[in-house]
Amino acid sequence: LDREIFTSGQRIFNTGDAGDCAYLIEEGAVEIVGVSHGPEQRLGLLRKGEMFGEIALIDHQPRTATALAVERTILIPIQRKLVEGLLEKSDPILRHLLLVILDRYRSNQSHRTMHEDKSPLTDHQAHQRKALKGEATQKLSLAHGITRALKNDEFELHYQPICNISDGCVAGFEALVRWRHPTDGLVPPMDFLWLAEQTGLIRELGLWTLERACRDWPNLRQLTNHETPFISVNLSATQLTSKTLVNDVKAVIARYGMPTTQLKLELTETVMIEHPEVAQEILSSLVELGSNLALDDYGTGYSGLDHLQRYPIGTLKIDRAFISRMLESEQSQEIVRSSIALAHSLGMNVVAEGIETRAVRDALSNMGCEFGQGWHFGKPVALQDLVLLCGV
Ligand code: C2E
Ligand code: CA
Ligand code: CA
Ligand code: CA
Repeated sequence: LDREIFTSGQRIFNTGDAGDCAYLIEEGAVEIVGVSHGPEQRLGLLRKGEMFGEIALIDHQPRTATALAVERTILIPIQRKLVEGLLEKSDPILRHLLLVILDRYRSNQSHRTMHEDKSPLTDHQAHQRKALKGEATQKLSLAHGITRALKNDEFELHYQPICNISDGCVAGFEALVRWRHPTDGLVPPMDFLWLAEQTGLIRELGLWTLERACRDWPNLRQLTNHETPFISVNLSATQLTSKTLVNDVKAVIARYGMPTTQLKLELTETVMIEHPEVAQEILSSLVELGSNLALDDYGTGYSGLDHLQRYPIGTLKIDRAFISRMLESEQSQEIVRSSIALAHSLGMNVVAEGIETRAVRDALSNMGCEFGQGWHFGKPVALQDLVLLCGV
């Protein structure tokens, strides 16, 4: 950490200087002088612990004010590189807006100082700006599309049967969301859920999914005349940190008279890792309501054994990645076998995801896996297209 020492009255930088760092005051005091209206005047006096010159960290424009040490001052320079890494990882919409705001600020500044102190962008910078603007615009319009879709009822649920491995009878369904886009056709969840997650729109969409699934449950039940099916609804990590989730779920269940014992909520390990306390509280409340919890995509995340013990999870869903490879890969087979054994020893049942062939189903059956889901049993389809035959 290079410190810079200034004596009383010494200039740190001048208006118009090229700037590539900000400063943190470790000791001393700094006066910021600039042109606001008319002659130069003091814009601020900063002391230990404060920072100045930050704008240089974000754009590549010259300083808009002058900084002077008012006493012996020690500064820690913060290099632009440090912030550039953070900016790169940040949201393109926010980055774009930040640059727009800075541009406005700059042009206000140059009005005041009566001279053009904005240096033109290099070709590379201009190109980057354009790409960023495009990315931001695209993302904003997708977010707008999701909002509109919620309003215009463009989402729909498809249902995929979850079957007993042994006799192939339908035990339940997983509800999977799709977007019936007015011009693009049927859009799969992976094309829009990521943004719904990021923007928080997933809360509304997730609630819509839960509502629609509960509304459809009586119809699904009629399709399986021999048994009362469960319905599985996916909950995203963002939903699971929502304070209103438990009450929302309660309200939906009450509205549709959904028997809670037949409602299964699927979640991934993400929320348990990122918000362990919140997750524990909310998940316990959901179980108190009478619903069941399934841990989705098991094997792809951290798969910490403590999660399985700490949270009230009744079902383990082994990810398709292991199931689809298990006949070719000894290792995948071992992971599947030991996951099943682990789940059983903790009193959980197991759903194997992505079963596409009879051979895989038979192998899982031999391992004592209770339930299976996958193209072998049926693809996800709209409610009206579900035709169920027991004993695939
Ligand atoms: P998931 O929860 O792991 O759902 C299973 C995915 O695997 C579904 O993809 C399903 O169509 C696909 N699949 C099932 N069986 C097979 C098979 O035998 N072979 C192959 N190749 N694929 C199979 P889908 O419907 O595209 O959903 C993708 C993901 O989107 C889901 O993964 C889930 O994480 C998320 N998702 C879907 N609907 C919702 C929702 O309403 N809320 C939330 N939060 N997430 C959802
Ligand atoms: Ca799922
Ligand atoms: Ca899954
Ligand atoms: Ca998955």
